[in-house]
Amino acid sequence: MKTVHNFNAGPCVLSKQAINASIEALKDFSGTGMSVIEVSHRSKEWQAVMDETESLWKELLNIPTGYKTLFLGGGASTQFMMLPFNLLEKKAAYLETGVWAKKAIKEAGFFGEVVKVASSADKNYTYIPVGYNVPKDADYFHITTNNTIYGTEIHTDMDSPVLLVADMSSDIMSRPVDVAKYGIIYGGAQKNVGPAGVTFVIIREDILGKVTRNIPTMLDYRTHIKESSMFNTPPVFPILVMNETLKWIKTEGGLQAINKKNVEKAALLYNEIDRNTMFVGTAEKTSRSIMNICFVMSDPYQNKEEAFMEFAKSRGMVGIKGHRSVGGFRASLYNACPKESVLALVGCMQEFEQMNK
Ligand SMILES: *Cc1c(COP(=O)(O)O)cnc(C)c1O
Repeated sequence: MKTVHNFNAGPCVLSKQAINASIEALKDFSGTGMSVIEVSHRSKEWQAVMDETESLWKELLNIPTGYKTLFLGGGASTQFMMLPFNLLEKKAAYLETGVWAKKAIKEAGFFGEVVKVASSADKNYTYIPVGYNVPKDADYFHITTNNTIYGTEIHTDMDSPVLLVADMSSDIMSRPVDVAKYGIIYGGAQKNVGPAGVTFVIIREDILGKVTRNIPTMLDYRTHIKESSMFNTPPVFPILVMNETLKWIKTEGGLQAINKKNVEKAALLYNEIDRNTMFVGTAEKTSRSIMNICFVMSDPYQNKEEAFMEFAKSRGMVGIKGHRSVGGFRASLYNACPKESVLALVGCMQEFEQMNK
């Protein structure tokens, strides 16, 4: 197998330990003589995986009592609709920090009034707005903690005058989170906690049952809470890989240790972007994400973009093309991206500068 440095934005790099353990479970799951994709989801062996996965979530994120973690299908994109379906009675507040936030805003609009408290669209979402007011009569306030496409991030758990809900698709498990500040935290697993196909929802149970509309069974959080994510057949294989990924995070020392590594990795790359005359970062410094790092060629070197891409590719870099709405480059340094990969990319940038002197 060839060695690459995987900077894909999602699906993306996962731990080798988790992948190898998942391969074993594909061959022989828990000594059953069957593959994990052949066993009943009602078997005691599968139930053990569900129980362990939920308890790993609780332990790693230090989730307080009164919360439940659900593993659903549909992706974060289904949560854009499911969340207002369950929570929006009259009015909801949203912070518009990028394309994902915009998509969430659009879906909320089907259920009630949406107040956009602030937007960074004026500068192509290169910063996180501050100093806005959240209406006190909103049913909830929705934020996107990490803006995968633009490389901006809300680094702390904010205080909100109303129920705070968050799309944490691309920075969940990258740092310790004060879960008690949130009513709901949701996201697709395919960035930091597993493969595509499973969606996590951490939810404070007492916030439900307050809207007057009828909610179809599959879209009602209470259905999935009552049946512990087993109302219907769960996405078994993605959950299994997530389970192995969470075990890996634990062996790495948990979220404090993971965060320390993430901060170090991001600093290595940002320092090079700031030092190297050929490159410039696109996100405002105080809003910089530690997960997705966006940069472009500096003005005198605009014509070198393709040449750098080719050069980086020849050195094994994968997935560094920026999103089409930002251009340039994006390196995603998720939990499982090793420091060696970041050093290899930094090395490429330094060599490229030398070559163009
Ligand atoms: C990737 C991503 C999504 C979309 O997730 P799906 O699971 O593909 O629906 C939503 N929000 C953010 C912040 C993302 O990074």
